Amino acid sequence: MANDNTTKPTKYIFVTGGVASSLGKGIIAASLARLLQARGYSVTNQKLDPYINVDPGTLNPYEHGECYVTEDGAETDLDLGHYERFTSIPTSQANNVTTGRIYQTVINKERRGDYLGKTVQVIPHITDEIKRRIQLLGSKKQYDIIITEIGGTVGDIESLPYIEAVRQLRYSLGYQNTAIIHLTLIPYMSASGELKTKPTQHSVKALLENGLQPDILVLRTEKHITEEIKRKVALFCNVDQNAVMESIDVPTIYEVPLKMHEQHLDEVTLAKLNLPTVQEPDLKDWIEFVKRVKNPKTVINIALVGKYTELPDAYKSISESFIHAGATNHVKAKVHYINSELLDERNIDEKLQGMSGILVAPGFGFRGVEGKILAAKFAREKKIPFLGICLGMQCAVIEFARNVLGYADANSAEMSNTTKHPVIDLMEEQKGIQDKGGTMRLGAYPCQLTPGSKVQQAYGTEHISERHRHRYEFNNEFLNEFAAKGMKPVGINPDSNLVEAVELEDHPWFVGVQFHPEYKSTVLYPHPLFVAFVKAAIEQSEQSEKQ
Ligand code: GLN
Repeated sequence: MANDNTTKPTKYIFVTGGVASSLGKGIIAASLARLLQARGYSVTNQKLDPYINVDPGTLNPYEHGECYVTEDGAETDLDLGHYERFTSIPTSQANNVTTGRIYQTVINKERRGDYLGKTVQVIPHITDEIKRRIQLLGSKKQYDIIITEIGGTVGDIESLPYIEAVRQLRYSLGYQNTAIIHLTLIPYMSASGELKTKPTQHSVKALLENGLQPDILVLRTEKHITEEIKRKVALFCNVDQNAVMESIDVPTIYEVPLKMHEQHLDEVTLAKLNLPTVQEPDLKDWIEFVKRVKNPKTVINIALVGKYTELPDAYKSISESFIHAGATNHVKAKVHYINSELLDERNIDEKLQGMSGILVAPGFGFRGVEGKILAAKFAREKKIPFLGICLGMQCAVIEFARNVLGYADANSAEMSNTTKHPVIDLMEEQKGIQDKGGTMRLGAYPCQLTPGSKVQQAYGTEHISERHRHRYEFNNEFLNEFAAKGMKPVGINPDSNLVEAVELEDHPWFVGVQFHPEYKSTVLYPHPLFVAFVKAAIEQSEQSEKQ
């Protein structure tokens, strides 16, 4: 919107959290972005993570959930997935910054001698680098508004430099160009039947001690917040009463933008930023989507076979993709998490019984791989719709080599260095790489699809681009053997000849993809592969009902 006028200053919104972690700052930040975008503003979301890892790429998914990958190949926090799913705007490396990355930059500068003999300190050097990273997103004048979420909880030692950087930025950018939204918890004490505001008051005090006055408070709560409570919070936290919002538990996170709009979060924020509330937000498609999510015509069961099943956040983008694709198909695609480490010949019938689709998840290392291979075999033989993503595709390839091509020892070079049939092998460009961080084949690559294949039909085009995160690949030495027996390569990278997608002949819908379609599914643009997979699963479920 305001891109036409480069003299207008970029506005910055900071989202902080207090009282407890996991209150859903990412969802609030993404919801606000969606609302402002629906009003015609160009917006982007950024996440600052206070941990010392340079990026979450080396983290076990049990630590912070899934590692999300951007177009430009950044391995990022899963909140960036929410941002993209809500706004349909691609994020990039600049949208996620960690303490590790900040320190790495500062220390590299120190080694180069850039600080000219000065003592390098948290203030000003670390805080300056934080400010630079925040403003970097605004430097091209591409966005009217940048929403920066500060990870962690106010009061944490490790978030202090971020809070200080925000304080300084408010001062230098001007208060009319910045807004602070603080998300806190209002606990309900069932013994006394009361909602308690004291933790929120303390949390705002902690912010004030660090020199930050929030403009807007969003209160997470299980019970509705009365006007009386809002008045009390407003009075003791120095905010306007109309700037105290309730964020009550809702059946789907996609309802949050609508709930926030009902309470005028978008208008109040724009007013704080001195921006006009130009137009009512156009939320027609969003409302329709939420209606479909809440009122599915039927439920279909999908098995998600993976090894991180105790923490559904480990597969966040996949489970969200099913919500999008379910809504498109007017069904609820219910995801059942099946631990691949516990899956074996004896229990597979029972564990996968009643599943209309089987998804074998991405992953690393040999743990749980045999269970994934078994799940691919089950789907192939029982003709159940199948989608294998990254390691999931690799498992389908190994299974086919073992049981159809007859190579009993077939494996991926990741799992075995003695196999005579490494049908999945280390990519040439990966040989010799020692460092684990940021060294995989990452980000968007083009792919050429075979006309008439199921994958091509799903996309409706022959040229696609999808995001990657892997070191191993389909071994082209075996390509002809696979194709001759019915596992066809249907997606090829035109530059490197790498196989990016395979599918089975003589099967209703059996697809393996080396890339990660789940990273690109959004509310307004559900991913075509998930849509087609869910459609095949619906057909499967209708057929098994007839039998
Ligand atoms: N471990 C496999 C590889 O590196 C698959 C990675 C993944 O599933 N993201 O190739």
